[in-house]
Amino acid sequence: MSKQTLFSVQSRAIKFNHFATAMLLGLLSLATSSATVPVEIDSNVTAKSGVIKVSRADEDTLRITWPASSKETGELVIDLRPDQPLIQSLALTRKGQPTKALATRLDPVTTLTIGERDRKKFDEAFRGMVFFENPREKPHETHPVLLAKKSVHVSRNGTRVTVRIGEVSAGSFTGDLHFTLYPNSPLIHLETVIRTKQELRAILYDTGLSSASPDWQKTVWLDPRWKLQGEAPDIMTKARPLAVKQRTVVAAGNNGSIAVFPAPHQYFYPLDFAENFQFNWLGSGYSKMPEGFGFGIRQPLHGDKRWVPWFDAPANQEHCLGVFYLLSTGDGEQALKEVASYTHDDRFKELPDHKTFTSHYHIEHTLDFLDRQKKQNTDGIPKGLETPGFVTKFKETGVDIVHLAEFHHGWTPAQKTPDRLRMLKAMHEECARLSDDELLLLPGEEPNVHLGGHWISFFPKPVYWVLNRGPNEPFEENIDGYGKVYHVGSPDDVLKLMERENGLMWTAHARIKASIKFPDEYRTKPFYQSDHFLGAAWKAMPADLSRPTLGWRVLDLLDDMNQWGQRKQIIGEVDVFRVEPDYELYAHMNINYLRLKHSPKFAAGWQPVLDILRTGQFFTTTGEVLIPKFTVAGKESGEVISKRRTDNATLRANLEWTFPLAFAEIVSGNGQSIQRQRIDLTDTESFGRRTLRIPVELKGQKWIRLEVWDIAANGAFTQPVWIE
Ligand SMILES: [Zn+2]
Repeated sequence: MSKQTLFSVQSRAIKFNHFATAMLLGLLSLATSSATVPVEIDSNVTAKSGVIKVSRADEDTLRITWPASSKETGELVIDLRPDQPLIQSLALTRKGQPTKALATRLDPVTTLTIGERDRKKFDEAFRGMVFFENPREKPHETHPVLLAKKSVHVSRNGTRVTVRIGEVSAGSFTGDLHFTLYPNSPLIHLETVIRTKQELRAILYDTGLSSASPDWQKTVWLDPRWKLQGEAPDIMTKARPLAVKQRTVVAAGNNGSIAVFPAPHQYFYPLDFAENFQFNWLGSGYSKMPEGFGFGIRQPLHGDKRWVPWFDAPANQEHCLGVFYLLSTGDGEQALKEVASYTHDDRFKELPDHKTFTSHYHIEHTLDFLDRQKKQNTDGIPKGLETPGFVTKFKETGVDIVHLAEFHHGWTPAQKTPDRLRMLKAMHEECARLSDDELLLLPGEEPNVHLGGHWISFFPKPVYWVLNRGPNEPFEENIDGYGKVYHVGSPDDVLKLMERENGLMWTAHARIKASIKFPDEYRTKPFYQSDHFLGAAWKAMPADLSRPTLGWRVLDLLDDMNQWGQRKQIIGEVDVFRVEPDYELYAHMNINYLRLKHSPKFAAGWQPVLDILRTGQFFTTTGEVLIPKFTVAGKESGEVISKRRTDNATLRANLEWTFPLAFAEIVSGNGQSIQRQRIDLTDTESFGRRTLRIPVELKGQKWIRLEVWDIAANGAFTQPVWIE
């Protein structure tokens, strides 16, 4: 095998002994001779109660079988011989049928690109969190991840079983390969779990399955326009990156299919643009991967060629480079459908008595509209913008209400009154025109004046305001064709405007990007302390694969803001520029589920949307985990528990999910310290529902909230319930 071959094997064959005697010791150590790969199987794996069975197929192989559904059994056979593909076979068998492999002799293949973070930016950042950096422009190197089959450890966590195979190495990173199986799930979760002692690393990884002699019939995927594509695997096909809908590529054979796909959100580092930058690959000789025909997922080095921060890889932490394999007895199209069900087909699922709300889009539709009007010499709807692509995309994604952030240009604050009013009017009219029974499109801006850092404005109806009030200009005046017009020139003016028009403002990308010091630095200011300052916005940024969650930056801030004393909320923001139907928008998205039965009509104003945000009557999610109902001592998020009701309180939450869950966390604070209580959910299976009922101690606490996370770092969180 060449030096670059993944899984180059340095160790000797495994030898199994009988389980029985060692089980008495509580731990099975099957390796006795120095000539064997040491294999440990924890006794709770071999316990009768476990439905995932690990056994020897023969001297050199480990067979794992598990119920993949009520009607099917999955089988993964691992080959521990040197110079042999790691996966001897993958099978999924209907009950009562003979076992037939979906594919044989497969190697999981992974490359790790290691780059360097900017020391100065790291030091100047809030807790080292940086978006504006470009490790791609500094020295970096892509390494094959090499496996030496040196040891095997099989352990159980809840109902799940993990087979850990050591050691892997790539550059300065070393660790193990983890296969995790879940009862009644066709998923195999493969993670390359690695760490480094080097500081300030930024990483990317590409991974997939490869074979020197592919024995499936067709490799299939959907292109970004939903067209099914496929080709026979051919070792002579040179590798290429692929733009794929829903991030999934499938090997389809006579007995069924194997789909390869990433965690739908966690795998995608934050970017300003959400185009499909070819997040998949297919063919022979891809990157530094070993020879053979392969397919899988990739993280492009250059992204949108703007700020491309990659993944932070702090020293001495375990980084989990994950990928999912889904086994299906169906054909390629069926396997794609089964994968799509984990993200509700990249849609935010309809929930009774809820409407979905998303915010912070620099689509710049208004400028595009005015520009095309001018070019086409028309006062009407310019050709090409009858139904803009973003409207189609939002409808397809299950979004009910969109709050824009238009005019995100450096020249906006200095714009003269007539130009500014003309633009606002066009935005208001276009939002009215494009809103219908399916989608409510709302005007909004990231005006970035007067307060410090970047912030978002939101009014309950069209409001005309100009951002650069001069010394002799009135705060308010009437202008023909527009009605009431405000001029703001200071934080006090902004607050006064928000009070007059019952608006809301909040910190955009708090503690990062152009808001590194905010809201921390203005938290004592009247505008921040006012009820018109909602709080901040949440986004999965930065990215760090040593974390089992997303978006800790703003979840920590939510806790801090509530400890500071005012009742603040955080809402999910997406903060991207263009949106078109073929974009990979879902990966970058999150959504707010508002407790709202009906969307308001544009013409009547949308005060109920602002009221629900301000009173915390919503939860935020990446889409896969839902919290349709959440109460503490009978009170919903945003409500207040009276002092008399704090004894023997119970937190109650209805949960619904697609990927098996990992854990929930109850977070509460008393103004001095923050308490966290982790609820283990490793007994959950795919596509479940459960009501949590957890006794909570509320004495002395001021607020309490809930987060729920799954095995792919998808998650949902509530706004706080307050305690009197
Ligand atoms: Zn911004």
